[in-house]
Amino acid sequence: MPLAAKVALPIAARTAAPAAAKGGASVAQKALQKLGLQRDIDLALHLPLRYEDETRITPLANARDGQMVQIEATVTASEVQLRPRRQLLVRVEDDTGSCELRFFSFYPSHQKTLAVGARLRIRGEVKGGFWGRQMLHPAFRLAGGELPAALTPVYPTTAGLPQPYLRRAVVGALTRVDLSDTLPPGAEPPVTRIYSQNGLQRLFSLREALIFLHHPTPDVALSTLEDHSHPAWQRLKAEELLAQQLSQQQSRRERDRLRAPVLRPARADDGALPLHEQLMAVLPFDLTAAQRRVGEEIAADLARPVPMHRLLQGDVGSGKTVVAALAACLAMDAGWQCALMAPTEILAEQHFAKMIGWLEPLLAARGRRVAWLVGGQKKKERTAMLALVASGEAALVVGTHAVIQEQVQFKNLALAIIDEQHRFGVAQRLALRQKLSHQGMEPHMLMMSATPIPRTLAMSYYADLDVSVIDELPPGRTPIVTKLIADSRKDEVIARIGAQVAAGRQVYWVCPLIEESEALDLSNATATHADLSEALPGVMVGLLHSRMPTAEKKAVMALFTSGQMGVLVSTTVIEVGVDVPNASLMVIEHAERFGLSQLHQLRGRVGRGAAASACVLLYATNDSGRVGETAKERLRAMAETNDGFEIARRDLEIRGPGEFLGARQSGDALLRFADLATDTHLLEWARELAPQMLDRYPDLATRHVARWLGGKSDYLKA
Ligand code: ADP
Ligand code: MG
Repeated sequence: MPLAAKVALPIAARTAAPAAAKGGASVAQKALQKLGLQRDIDLALHLPLRYEDETRITPLANARDGQMVQIEATVTASEVQLRPRRQLLVRVEDDTGSCELRFFSFYPSHQKTLAVGARLRIRGEVKGGFWGRQMLHPAFRLAGGELPAALTPVYPTTAGLPQPYLRRAVVGALTRVDLSDTLPPGAEPPVTRIYSQNGLQRLFSLREALIFLHHPTPDVALSTLEDHSHPAWQRLKAEELLAQQLSQQQSRRERDRLRAPVLRPARADDGALPLHEQLMAVLPFDLTAAQRRVGEEIAADLARPVPMHRLLQGDVGSGKTVVAALAACLAMDAGWQCALMAPTEILAEQHFAKMIGWLEPLLAARGRRVAWLVGGQKKKERTAMLALVASGEAALVVGTHAVIQEQVQFKNLALAIIDEQHRFGVAQRLALRQKLSHQGMEPHMLMMSATPIPRTLAMSYYADLDVSVIDELPPGRTPIVTKLIADSRKDEVIARIGAQVAAGRQVYWVCPLIEESEALDLSNATATHADLSEALPGVMVGLLHSRMPTAEKKAVMALFTSGQMGVLVSTTVIEVGVDVPNASLMVIEHAERFGLSQLHQLRGRVGRGAAASACVLLYATNDSGRVGETAKERLRAMAETNDGFEIARRDLEIRGPGEFLGARQSGDALLRFADLATDTHLLEWARELAPQMLDRYPDLATRHVARWLGGKSDYLKA
């Protein structure tokens, strides 16, 4: 794509920055702030949504129906018509033809400008052809002045911030801001080169790329700006990815300078085996090879005097909990404390029950125990638990984010384990780290996630973490069969539920997610609960939803876990972590409203025992069947694979990274320009360059990160 490297600021660049004095300006300035456009660099990086071509005048005779054109013409008639509706009709002519302008709303000042005889520059969409051209509400101004040499940018904006003001602000920023190169000498991003005036191939500099993207020359292929494949776009994306990599690798290096307790298991004085070996001995199963491998990776980290930050990934049901318990043993063995946090009380409760079962007898022999901390706890119980935590008698503390609340004082916390880590907010994670470090010691952190993170995401947003993957399910699981069924066949599904329950199995029924409306979620679940209770006489059908008081939730879960309850109707509160191996059928209503990864999580609630399990995805059909078909297409991926990584990859393609990152990053810190699905080669380049740059050009690295991330880089470290 030969491209002339004609990049120059338009004339307006030489005019002053917008004045801040008048009242109007301050409104606009507030609006700028609202858009986060405070620094010059923010404005320089605020790229146009689209462009308008005001660089040429189209003779009226050449204007095609539906075309957006700029014409220059003289007003030959102007009148206000009252019927059928009050409107201003203006006839204009150039040397080649005429056109009628029609305005339904207009002010006297408009009429004045549009007076007969006036020569105007008019921009709008032409309707009709040779016999009767029309423009509805075109933009117009008196003709005169040079035509701009570049396309006119149209920016994303907000109320109180008119385009002309924003344009001037951007141009002003571009003249002031320092856009000197921060790439080290010889570090060339893998982007398309351009031809310069002397015919040589070279790269866009950052400055040239930005000036070009704000004011492209009219010969540009607009499609390359729209799909971000233009060399100027590539340059920006490479720079952005580099900033992200630098910031993450930097925070990793900072962490490596911190100290953390060395946790190395040893035989106790009385000759007893280390705790983790004792736990392995009482487990009713052997660890899978994958569990053993990640266990060793974690153990190696814990034996080092620097804080571990490791992400443990494993598909639903891969057995992360026991790996967490074994890691906890390594900490508790050495006399330290360990915290295990889960995003919901139900999940925390399950972990607690499991940990008690596995560890309490072993800990009791050492005079220690497991403590329990959640939000809605009775004051007396809570006080007792807090005392256990403070004295160090609690070797393990299980709970929700209540574990990191202010009143909680650990004696010596060495390891924090966060289950379903993407459910925790950035602020919570920052708080965790700040709270837990004491006496110059940071705790180790193990984050667990069942939402498999596609490789490109792991390389970018999670570049500051080490990643362990459990890529194997425990033996003896029969694969879950997934069926897509139109909701018009709900009755058949209900009949199947009856058969499952009669065979001693249990069933989940997940009600549709109704975005932004907990109330509707609830009424839906309640109605379904009533329907199923009626259709299945003699079967205990329970209801679980997020508004229920905790005690009631617990009671329902207990009935289901014990096997007394045959069917559990639920909103998505069961999504994460619930483990009832006897459940063998999962029905998800309005499956088309869920993300694929979320469906995969839900499906993972069954197939945990030896019994053959199934997942039924009910999708909505309408009269024409059309909505049903597209939904079905997307859902088909679920039936095709049980591989969480593959599903995550497809989900990423369809829905972008937000879903996976959850609250890991505020929207601010998300990549704005780069697209991980298409820019993998740029990501690889940035990942390789970042460490070299930190080693050899630390000043450039600092400048680069400051330019791109400003004050946001803190969030990347959470
Ligand atoms: P997840 O990774 O989704 O958190 P869990 O830790 O809840 O999975 O484990 C799922 C189920 O598999 C639990 O019932 C657990 O006890 C069991 N399990 C874990 N590891 C093994 C293993 N190696 N062999 C057999 N069952 C296992
Ligand atoms: Mg789990």
